[in-house]
Amino acid sequence: MEKTLILDGKNIAREVRSDLKTKVAQLKSHGVVPKLAIVMVGNAPPSLIYVANKEKACQQIGVEVEKFHLAEDVPPEAVRETISLCNNDKNIHGIILQLPLPGHLDGNELIETINPGKDVDGLTTTNLGRLVRGNPLYVPATPAGIVELLVRYSIPIAGKRVVIVGRGELVGKPLANLLLLKGNKGDATVTVCHSRTPDLVAVCQSAELLVVATGRPGLIKENMVKPGVVVIDAGINRTENGIVGDVDFDRVAPRAMAITPVPGGVGPMTVAMLLANTVQAAERAV
Ligand code: NDP
Repeated sequence: MEKTLILDGKNIAREVRSDLKTKVAQLKSHGVVPKLAIVMVGNAPPSLIYVANKEKACQQIGVEVEKFHLAEDVPPEAVRETISLCNNDKNIHGIILQLPLPGHLDGNELIETINPGKDVDGLTTTNLGRLVRGNPLYVPATPAGIVELLVRYSIPIAGKRVVIVGRGELVGKPLANLLLLKGNKGDATVTVCHSRTPDLVAVCQSAELLVVATGRPGLIKENMVKPGVVVIDAGINRTENGIVGDVDFDRVAPRAMAITPVPGGVGPMTVAMLLANTVQAAERAV
């Protein structure tokens, strides 16, 4: 079999950022400086790292960031007020509420208060509904990043038998809808699995394209994939061996035609697509 292609999300994300940098320069020449508001609550170390990565990526392409860092015990009304302030600020084009939130806050309820026109995470009911309808405005960044990665590597999606393991709100569910859209970047035949799927092994073996987003390190083993499969691992798990995905990379990779590494696969694409959505939001304002 041919050598496995490693899908280098870090490099492709760099390409995406470079394209976006040009767009930002054009926007600035029209007097528009794209601006992202990041609302974050508390000091959970992973969230601090994610927010720092997003800020850095924005700065690299000339997108301004305004951070609203609220205390761990902030009451829900204060979060709503912050979001409302961002909704009403015409210089802010995109708003994200960094998840997860402390237990006393209802993430879905708070996300719902973001103006869908500024919801660059694509998580409001309006934006998820538009995706399901086939008329997306902002698509959640991780699924969008997975599709962008496949497209930039010229890996066909249309007509493929896709198995997604994980029906989470951030990855599995929106990705299934994205791959079902009509057109070249969709038109897939999609099966979605979860923790109650009987005989996960057999379902995964049927995949030409296998996407995994479960948060279970090493869930996908070599006996679960057929030779020549394309494997996308969205998992991010912090272990004593560092960050690992949901796929047993060392054993699965030799059977795959192409596979994403963790880290350096889907993660960087997620940040790049958040930038793309923010630039799109600023373009809409012109
Ligand atoms: P959720 O916890 O919302 O969903 C996890 C899904 O995995 C659920 O549908 C669950 O099933 C399923 N699952 C859990 N165990 C098994 C199992 N043994 N067999 C089959 N299915 C199983 O997670 P998210 O969607 O938010 O995230 C998933 C992963 O993706 C995490 O590792 C997260 O860190 C990562 N992630 C990565 C991002 C990136 O930028 N690369 C961005 C966002 C998330 P059930 O519904 O039945 O409980």
